[in-house]
Amino acid sequence: MSEPRADLGVLGMGTMGANLALNFADNGGFTVALGNRTTEKAYGVRDSNPELADRLVPTDSIEHFVASLRSPRVVVLMVNAGRPVDDQMALVLPHLNPGDILIDAGNADFNDTVRREREVKPTGIHFVGMGVSGGEVGARNGPSIMVGGDQAVWERLQPLLEPIAARFDGAPCVDWLGTDGAGHFVKTIHNGIEYADMQMIAEVYGILRDAAGLEAGRMAEIFADWNTRELESYLIEITALVLAERDGETGGALVDQIVDEAGQKGTGRWSVIEAQKLGIGATTLEAAVSARGISSRRAERAEAANVFGDLRLAGAQFGADADALAELESALVTAKIIAYAQGYATLAEASREFGWNLPLGEIARIWRAGCIIRSRFLDDITRAYEAGDVVNLLMAPSFTARIEAGQEALRRVVAKAALSGIPVPALSAALSYFDDYRRARGTTNLTQGQRDLFGAHTFHRLDREGVFHHRWPQA
Ligand code: NAP
Repeated sequence: MSEPRADLGVLGMGTMGANLALNFADNGGFTVALGNRTTEKAYGVRDSNPELADRLVPTDSIEHFVASLRSPRVVVLMVNAGRPVDDQMALVLPHLNPGDILIDAGNADFNDTVRREREVKPTGIHFVGMGVSGGEVGARNGPSIMVGGDQAVWERLQPLLEPIAARFDGAPCVDWLGTDGAGHFVKTIHNGIEYADMQMIAEVYGILRDAAGLEAGRMAEIFADWNTRELESYLIEITALVLAERDGETGGALVDQIVDEAGQKGTGRWSVIEAQKLGIGATTLEAAVSARGISSRRAERAEAANVFGDLRLAGAQFGADADALAELESALVTAKIIAYAQGYATLAEASREFGWNLPLGEIARIWRAGCIIRSRFLDDITRAYEAGDVVNLLMAPSFTARIEAGQEALRRVVAKAALSGIPVPALSAALSYFDDYRRARGTTNLTQGQRDLFGAHTFHRLDREGVFHHRWPQA
């Protein structure tokens, strides 16, 4: 059994766990115990990083792993969400003592995090749900980290997490966001926004490819150009890189050889479910998750394409000249603002519902570097929240002006896409949300009339107070 010399331990040596452990050892200067269900992987991580070997302590059992940790212990779990987390917790918890900290750093359904924290609390061990964004590279060099749990525990974690987090303008992109499930909830909505952002980019790619008829290489140049202005972001940058990449086998663009199917499990789906539970219309997030669902039915789509053929109407043309590209760019900016407004509305409502008091401006700041949705645009969100109360981002003066400037472009792009038979579910969801949100007199008066007719659900009147039921003629 080894002596307890590790400052912390990482349990789970998959892509994220191994890279996070290396980050703790390299950028944090910490000695890190390495544990994994398949124990050889822990030794493999140490052996393939000889320059860090004196700070990496691979272990071959839970007992060995825990015995390697200095007290009070800090264990970072980085395994797949769901059962694996509960299984690993059941294995490690009996070996921990009151005052030790167990962190679930994987993606998690925040409802599980709330439950786990409640279950662990009586033991005196601190359970922390922590969202980590940035993928493999972020985990290794500096992710954006969203911490939940007891604030007092955060004070103990700060010296461990700040050295390994991404930095923006010198400040670490990590913070405590609220109690119990707050960190995992914010990570979930981050991923929901990421889904929407990626879907909207894919829709614009679809327009450029299928309506404007551009080659991937030309599209790479367009996205690279857009990355120099308002849309500047990691996702636009990598879009240009992906489109520019050539395929060694065919000589064509690699993107043209990739199967058009994407999954939609985990955080994307949870973000939509939670937004629905909170009564927030996160329609762009929903559209993005649904689009991935439809994408996975590839054989059915091929059959439907044969049955329905080309349905585009004459006259609705997408061009690729400077004006057409500027219109697309403006439409994408506008739709993106609306998607973030929906994500932020979900965060704000969850904050109220669960009593988290989420620091909404600070959240945009810690997403500014390290994470997948990092972009210049997040600065504007931070500033909007710093400037005062924000009911909805669309109503923050800086965003109102940008929506006013870009809504016409979004409207034209969505209309042309509809006439051209090009699906733009997230862009059109953004436009419809905006039009719905800015309509003082909606249409659910009719819905309420129908509900009162068939179910005596009652309704309110515009001209007087009270609850009314009408004796409607029956069909
Ligand atoms: P991964 O590469 O597939 O690694 C999965 C890890 O979980 C391995 O260490 C595996 O152990 C372990 N594991 C799986 N089932 C287990 C079980 N039943 N009992 C014990 N251990 C089990 O996954 P990953 O990409 O590192 O993701 C880890 C977590 O980070 C997930 O929650 C994921 O959603 C989240 N995350 C991933 C990314 C990303 O870009 N990949 C970004 C942010 C967050 P074995 O080696 O023994 O199989």
